Amino acid sequence: MFQPQQNEPISEPISEPISEKEQYTGQDARRMNILAARIVSEAVRSTLGPKGMDKMLVDKTKDVALTDNGALILSLINVKHPAGKMIVEIAKTVKSEVGDGTTTAVVLAGELLKKAEELMDQGIHPALITDGFEIARKEAVGYLDELKFEIKESDLRNVAATILHGKVVKKDVDYLADIAVNAIKIGKEKDNIYINYRPGGNIQSTDLIKGVMIDLGKRVHPSMPKTVKDAKVLLIDKEFDIKKMDKAKIEIRDPQSMSAFAEYREKILKIAVDMIARSGANVVFCKKNIADVAMFYLAKAGILAVRDVEEDAFKMLSKYTGATVVSNANDVSPSVLGYAGFVEESRIGLEELMYVTGSSDPKVVSILIRGGSEKIALEIKRRMEDLIQVLSRAQREKDVVAGGGAVEMEISKRLRSFARKLKDKKQLAVNAFADAVEVIPKSIAYNGGLDTINVLVKLRAEHVNGRERAGLDLRDGEIKDTSKCGIVEHLSVKKQALESAVGVANMILRIDDVLISKGGRTKLPAARQMQAPPMPPTPPGAMDFAAKDGKIDLRHVESILK
Ligand code: ADP
Ligand code: MG
Repeated sequence: MFQPQQNEPISEPISEPISEKEQYTGQDARRMNILAARIVSEAVRSTLGPKGMDKMLVDKTKDVALTDNGALILSLINVKHPAGKMIVEIAKTVKSEVGDGTTTAVVLAGELLKKAEELMDQGIHPALITDGFEIARKEAVGYLDELKFEIKESDLRNVAATILHGKVVKKDVDYLADIAVNAIKIGKEKDNIYINYRPGGNIQSTDLIKGVMIDLGKRVHPSMPKTVKDAKVLLIDKEFDIKKMDKAKIEIRDPQSMSAFAEYREKILKIAVDMIARSGANVVFCKKNIADVAMFYLAKAGILAVRDVEEDAFKMLSKYTGATVVSNANDVSPSVLGYAGFVEESRIGLEELMYVTGSSDPKVVSILIRGGSEKIALEIKRRMEDLIQVLSRAQREKDVVAGGGAVEMEISKRLRSFARKLKDKKQLAVNAFADAVEVIPKSIAYNGGLDTINVLVKLRAEHVNGRERAGLDLRDGEIKDTSKCGIVEHLSVKKQALESAVGVANMILRIDDVLISKGGRTKLPAARQMQAPPMPPTPPGAMDFAAKDGKIDLRHVESILK
């Protein structure tokens, strides 16, 4: 089913696009939409929970990605049907809003649609179903607020471990959870935590660095110092070179003017390096390339320089050292420099990396993920990003709910007794909602190889007997108070998953026409058509650090040097 395509890794649509011949109305439209949405939902259901299966995604180059990350799978597979796409969209929303809970949202949406279809088969109008679902959603969100409890700072680790459980082996869960919690303690916000990965070693050689780590960062010249203490850091975001010529000054037509230009270029670059040295900078990080001549002069001046620093690392450097990024040699002055106690080139395996540490305001931390292969390391990096997002919220808002299906079972129980109070057919929809929510514990149990009926019956009994936090612990397959054994989930994640699932299910249920507009594209009213603002023209010479507006203003440069 999954087949390759360049850039858009999986090409065969997993639900067919609608063609012009297939325009549906009323019941047909709704059923086709439900079917498409459910196919997408089913595609990730087996990945839910700590024992979820991995999916193997293959692209055109036959490259393989192994993951059980619901959001990632949905972003990679090619879903063509509009209703299927709506499901993919909610996964993206949940991921960007809260970082976790995507599979839960998608699986729940699929189950709600399944239950809705059963009600439609009994002749219940979709409008009644969506109304009932809406009532149930409000109730359920209210229950979540009643069921939440606060965790202590020391319990953050449990939140981390619950997210990681099953996704990596037990001993690695503890190790990575500690790294994530320590990172968040220092960095506070996810924006202060830089995550990168380097294949090789094992997961337990993943490192937390109190500072910025530049992967593959090395000195551009072997005679530059390997270590600089008390570093005054200059950050350049343009190419350290002169390429654009001021045509009025030199025209390259023959070998003479070639060498004249080379001489001129060398002179300017030397001046630029002199200016850097005068400012007191002893470390230079450049986002782009550094010309050979400039490297030479920088080395001669005893300055450590690193080129091609990756965007995110570059931003972190500015934050960490307090340096102001410059684009032009004329702007170099002591006031734009940042500070780091220590800049050091090191080596892992065959490749270098550069550590920038010892800032006076050490809010920035880096995590260097290691793993036996590119795929493992990359997958762990993705997990770590989700984890950091949840933790950065969890340490501000400490509300959590019991995981392992506990909170879903309680919602389901409370909704059933609430439904009894409803006098009309909405009662059926609320009951259907209550059934649908049980898909979460059911799928976790199923994916864990347990007898789902058995587990559900036991869980229901526990909840009827007032044990609100009874859930399934897949580590030993037992039913217990999951909050006591550290299986807790952040309230925001559960709320977002629930809201998004109901939102998309209702949206799909409300559609009763699928129309294909002429030309294959639906024309939106003018107000909804968004136009991208025109890009500003790139100023000439903007790439050149040592040139200003394409012209090299020697007089200006030299007057600064005087
Ligand atoms: P999502 O993308 O929705 O976060 P996951 O695959 O991460 O999906 O699974 C999350 C579910 O797994 C949550 O309901 C969580 O409570 C549950 N879970 C996590 N750890 C355990 C565990 N040890 N035993 C049982 N359930 C667990
Ligand atoms: Mg998760």
